[in-house]
Amino acid sequence: MSAKESAGMATHVLVIEDDAPIRRFLQAALENQGYEVAEAETGRQGIERILSRMPDLVVLDLGLPDMDGMDIIGRVREWSQVPIVILSARGQENDKVNALNAGADDYLTKPFGVPELLARIRVALRHAAVLKAGGQEESSRFQVGDLLVDLANRRVFVGGREVHLTPIEYRLLTTFVRNPGKVLTHRHLLQEVWGPGCLNQTHYPRMYVASLRHKLEEDPAEPRYLLTEQGVGYRLVEEYGGEMPADRGAAASP
Ligand code: CA
Repeated sequence: MSAKESAGMATHVLVIEDDAPIRRFLQAALENQGYEVAEAETGRQGIERILSRMPDLVVLDLGLPDMDGMDIIGRVREWSQVPIVILSARGQENDKVNALNAGADDYLTKPFGVPELLARIRVALRHAAVLKAGGQEESSRFQVGDLLVDLANRRVFVGGREVHLTPIEYRLLTTFVRNPGKVLTHRHLLQEVWGPGCLNQTHYPRMYVASLRHKLEEDPAEPRYLLTEQGVGYRLVEEYGGEMPADRGAAASP
């Protein structure tokens, strides 16, 4: 189903990218899904078009000729919460982290594929819709594959078997559950789970993600749910791509 069909009207995406072939690739891929696409080749033009066209989402290349991507995010965030998915080159982990901490919603590393692009855009649009609707659309349970988090009763199940988490592990897991599919930086996790006083305890997320994986993942070394975003943070998958029988989810419910 295209975004157009589901929303009843076209979702408008603005692509800010100076590289013409990548811009054409993005336009074709997005239009094919029913998105309405506008383009900008420079940061200045991009900001202008965000103001004049009020897009539903912005895809922003960090390497633009006239402006630093970080400055663009900062400027836009002064007056708009439009979701921003950044494009960056491999090896620019620091840039990604800075962009996310500056208010970007997610990122794609070049080269990227269409499914990845569409997944990032879907997640960012959904988060924006929830925010617009006045905050937490807080569903009482989260399920992906055979992982079930029952938020109402603070219980966690894997394949129908209850898993016991420490309070910190549970708080960490629910931080991911509230942001399914979205990359969360180390800094974001420290802030949310341990509080602003612990921002320098940079080993905490790694340590506690490892212990969560031991409890939730079949093979903690090859996680299926809690993925590492190298040099950036972690992401809880929202769609499980593995071969899980369709009715397994229902059977896994307590
Ligand atoms: Ca570029």
